[in-house]
Amino acid sequence: MRIPDFTLHRPATSKEAVALAKEFESTDFLGGGTDLLPNYKWGLGCRENIISLRGLAELREPSLGAGRTLWEIENDAELAEQFPALVEAASHVATPLIRRSATLGGNLFLDTRCWHFNQTADWRRAHGSCLKAESDQCRVMPDPGNICVATYSGDMAPVFLAYGATAFLATSEGERSVSMNNLWAPDGIRRFQDVGGEEFLLRVEMAEDAQEWTVAYQKLRLRESFDFPEGGVAAGIRWQDGKVVDARIATTAYESVPMLHSEPAAVLVGGSLEEDVVEQASELLRAEVRPMKNTSMSPAYRKKMARVLCARALNSCRPV
Ligand SMILES: Cc1cc2nc3c(=O)[nH]c(=O)nc-3n(C[C@H](O)[C@H](O)[C@H](O)COP(=O)(O)OP(=O)(O)OC[C@H]3O[C@@H](n4cnc5c(N)ncnc54)[C@H](O)[C@@H]3O)c2cc1C
Repeated sequence: MRIPDFTLHRPATSKEAVALAKEFESTDFLGGGTDLLPNYKWGLGCRENIISLRGLAELREPSLGAGRTLWEIENDAELAEQFPALVEAASHVATPLIRRSATLGGNLFLDTRCWHFNQTADWRRAHGSCLKAESDQCRVMPDPGNICVATYSGDMAPVFLAYGATAFLATSEGERSVSMNNLWAPDGIRRFQDVGGEEFLLRVEMAEDAQEWTVAYQKLRLRESFDFPEGGVAAGIRWQDGKVVDARIATTAYESVPMLHSEPAAVLVGGSLEEDVVEQASELLRAEVRPMKNTSMSPAYRKKMARVLCARALNSCRPV
């Protein structure tokens, strides 16, 4: 399994990077390469031109710059003070070695994953490929006009959604912002609502009131030391005089998109996270998530665990 030949471009500025992506039809952006390059080895989504973002200072300077590694974020004392759940989530991604290379941009723009897709070319030839690779049929939900249901499995996105955050993209005109809530599309292949092929993530900015929120993230995975989430729930609570005045619940690894769940969050407002209210919100979330049969754990177990993860996250948001 060799990585197919490609041309590596090393632009020095965002402007140059956008121009290169516009010039070539078949391109991918490269952060740390911890996801993109293993996929290339397996012949998944290979392009002829790779544009490395590693030389772009503007991606490394802001504290939530797309080019900062997860290891840097995990060890950033200021971020730990301001957004402790973000730093905590970064520390649960993959392994320490991977986090040394893995960037925030690569994590948020992580490709979706599926049991039928993330396989070697030989495996796909032997067992039949899928809609996201070489086939016109989804192996998970094979009906006509089907849509790819590969799962979004990044750990950082739900935490940003719980704090309230905005993504800043490099464009041919300079930059533009997109609320994180409107970034991803519920389609395992298309992945984003409207991010042009030449656009890429520059940085993330937290909402002005983000530090008023208490946020906690809970993750389900096979091996604690290593694995992608099989389910992830971030809860965010804004307290005032001992009462919940606003709440957010966001998930990852349950659909093709990380997403906010307004119904379970709404029942929390006005109370003080009483046990029965936490139970009610968690049960609403369990009912709402729709895991597919495309990861290691069974959809039934992952769905059941949404309730447990949600309750744990909410219980961690109580004032100490
Ligand atoms: C063994 C293993 C375990 C893992 N476990 C986890 C886990 O627990 N949780 C988790 O979240 N991830 C996990 N990952 C996935 C991955 O390592 C991380 O998500 C990492 O943060 C990806 O960042 P990267 O810079 O290496 O991305 P890359 O591999 O460089 O890129 C990933 C994708 O993002 C795009 N991209 C990169 N930078 C940008 C940018 N600035 N703007 C737009 N698009 C961009 C690339 O084109 C590509 O499509 C795991 C990977 C491995 C190999």
